[in-house]
Amino acid sequence: MTEPLLKVNDLVKHFPITGGVLGRVVDKVHAVDGVSFALDAGQTLGVVGESGCGKSTTGRCILRLIEPTSGEVWFEGKNVTAMGKNELRGMARDMQIIFQDPYASLNPRMTVGAIVGEALIIHKLTKTDREYHDRIVELLETVGLSANQMRRYPHEFSGGQRQRIGIARALAVSPKLVVCDEAVSALDVSIQAQVINLLEDLQAKFNLTYLFIAHDLSVVEHISDRVAVMYLGRIVEIASARDLYTTPLHPYTEALLSAMPVPDPQLKRKRIMLQGDVPSPIKPPPGCHFHTRCPMARKECGIESPTLKQGSDGHWVACHLRT
Ligand code: SF4
Repeated sequence: MTEPLLKVNDLVKHFPITGGVLGRVVDKVHAVDGVSFALDAGQTLGVVGESGCGKSTTGRCILRLIEPTSGEVWFEGKNVTAMGKNELRGMARDMQIIFQDPYASLNPRMTVGAIVGEALIIHKLTKTDREYHDRIVELLETVGLSANQMRRYPHEFSGGQRQRIGIARALAVSPKLVVCDEAVSALDVSIQAQVINLLEDLQAKFNLTYLFIAHDLSVVEHISDRVAVMYLGRIVEIASARDLYTTPLHPYTEALLSAMPVPDPQLKRKRIMLQGDVPSPIKPPPGCHFHTRCPMARKECGIESPTLKQGSDGHWVACHLRT
């Protein structure tokens, strides 16, 4: 068996909350609370959950854009969490991120050519001006833009085009893993589909591995090989995309799926309405974090925290009633 490209073991990120005149730590936000998964090269893991469930923090901890509180991240057999600054800088070429808001993440004062070419200079990937220019043109064309757009500025592009610029920038260093952090969430549905198709084409062409983060199950359905569902800092279910969409095991996944539009108007799916809001990650409920909203909750759910257990082959769920 080959080793997975990425392995995340018991990742935790707590953000301290300070208060008082001395700025002491008075509490903490439990953003990520013991997340573990593995991701094979060339595969896509979709990560979904409501806003504040810890999915973006997980992605950023993997890249060490945020320092994890504890846990380990292994990439190609190397412990990323134990790396010093120099080693991490070298690793940055292999792991890239595409952000949700392409406009905010693109420097408005730089031309598109300079934005895409910045990493080529930082990592000394081209030797001559000609090579530098040709590589930028190649990257722009790879994402469906053209050479004559390289002297333009980000504000001259549409949202979808700006996201293509973000993708070209990420591709400049020929990464192996790309964290797509809500990369299509801000786009119209038709543009979302175009960008997802582009990401799929690029994956096939360059054998890319994606961690594809979104708040909506319908967005990750077609691009994901496996899907992890997160709730209040924990993975509550992880399975192949087919299993998760056809036979969900966790009541939270069932509720998310019930809210998805059904393409066939003849098909009726019963909507499961969850009561209340997602509790604060500052004081997550004891036991199963989902018990305050779960339609199937029992007494023990508020006391004992369910661990992820294998329900069927490769299908893991954290629920007292489902394993
Ligand atoms: Fe619901 Fe209990 Fe299962 Fe949590 S453990 S999802 S509260 S049934």
